[in-house]
Amino acid sequence: MPELPEVETVRRDLEARVIGRTITSCFVSEDAPRLVQLITRESFCESLTGRTIVGLRRRGKYLIVDLDDERAWVIHRRMSGNILYRTPDDPPDEWVRASFGLDDGQELRWTDLRKFGTMWLVEDATMVMESLGPEPLEAEFTPVVLRARARKRSIPIKSLLLDQTVVAGIGNLYGDEALWYAQVHPLRPANKLKPDDWRRLHTGIVKALQLGIAARGSSLGSTLRDHINVDGNPGENQTTVRAYGRDGEPCYRCATLMRRIIVGGRSSVFCPKCQPAPRGTAKKMAVKRKSKGKLHAKPAA
Ligand SMILES: [Zn+2]
Repeated sequence: MPELPEVETVRRDLEARVIGRTITSCFVSEDAPRLVQLITRESFCESLTGRTIVGLRRRGKYLIVDLDDERAWVIHRRMSGNILYRTPDDPPDEWVRASFGLDDGQELRWTDLRKFGTMWLVEDATMVMESLGPEPLEAEFTPVVLRARARKRSIPIKSLLLDQTVVAGIGNLYGDEALWYAQVHPLRPANKLKPDDWRRLHTGIVKALQLGIAARGSSLGSTLRDHINVDGNPGENQTTVRAYGRDGEPCYRCATLMRRIIVGGRSSVFCPKCQPAPRGTAKKMAVKRKSKGKLHAKPAA
C-alpha cells in the first residue's frame, strides 16, 4: 500500500516529465465508479482536457497536480493505485482504469487492481483532505511536536503513528520500521512514552521514510503490485526493510526471531528483545497462549 515514500517517488519522477505539458485527452473507465469524486467522470474529463500541468506537490499520501487554471487535480492511491508514464505504443498495462494523453505524445495510465484509488478536481486541495498532521520530513516536525500531538492519547503507539491527523504519510510498513529503529514496542500506550522514546521515534520515522524514498519505495511480497513506479518497475526498499513482513526472521540488531501481533486491527512485526513490551503485556499474552492450549483453562483473572 503506497505511503509517503511511494507517493514522493512518483511525484519526483513525474515532476521531471510532465511539468509544462498540456493534457490533450482524458479517459475514465466505467468500471471505476469511485475513482472520480464529487463530479461526474464526463465533467472531470471535460475540465481536465486542455489544462497545462504547472506543478506537482505532495501532502501526506496525497499527490497534488497543479493546473494552469489554478485548480488542483488531487490523487490518492489508497491500496493499489499507480501512475505509469507511457507512450501509446507501449504494451497494454493491466488494470488500467483511466488514461491521460499529453501534448508531447506521451500518456499517463492510472492502474488500480483494487479500485480504491480516488481523484478530485478542486480549487483548493485542502478541501478534500482530512486535517493532516505535520509533514514528517519537514523542519516543522520535531520530537516535541510529535509528543505534543500524542498527549493524553492512551492508544498503542503503532495506532497513533497511523493516525494521519497526528503525522501525515505513515502507514503500516513505515510504522513498523520507525518503531523498530526507535526500539519501541508497538503496544506501548502513546501517553506513557518518555521524552527519550519520542526522540528515538522521531529519528526512526525520519530514517525509515528517507530510506524508503532513497530505494524508490517498497514493493514487497503479496503487495508487489501495489506500488510500481512511473516506469512500471517496482521499488527496491525490500533490501532495507528491517521489521515489516519479517515475522519469524532474525532481528537485524540482535538476531532474536521477530514476532507478529495485531494492533488496532493491523499486523505489526517487532523484535521482542529490542522492543520490550510495556509492563503487564508479556504476562497477559502468556495467559492467553496458555488458555488457548488447555481445554479446561481457568479464565484469566
Ligand atoms: Zn532485536
